[in-house]
Amino acid sequence: MTCSKLAHCPFFNDEFDRMPLRSGILKRVYCMTAPDACARYQLKAHHEDAPHDLLPDGTKLAAGERKEAIA
Ligand code: SF4
Repeated sequence: MTCSKLAHCPFFNDEFDRMPLRSGILKRVYCMTAPDACARYQLKAHHEDAPHDLLPDGTKLAAGERKEAIA
């Protein structure tokens, strides 16, 4: 099942990370297959804002993994 939040998700749209290999794996595991298991999705489902740099597996990026400008 593909995530219903793809169009507006900053993680899926590559807005903040510099780790394309890891992001690609996470997208396949969570965004394209099991969004219900995604930490971002779960917060949104409860009408809570996800921290901008929260990854689907519940971890956050280290400083060197972030893009320079975080919106
Ligand atoms: S990161 Fe989570 S909320 Fe965003 S598109 Fe992927 S599964 Fe959906």
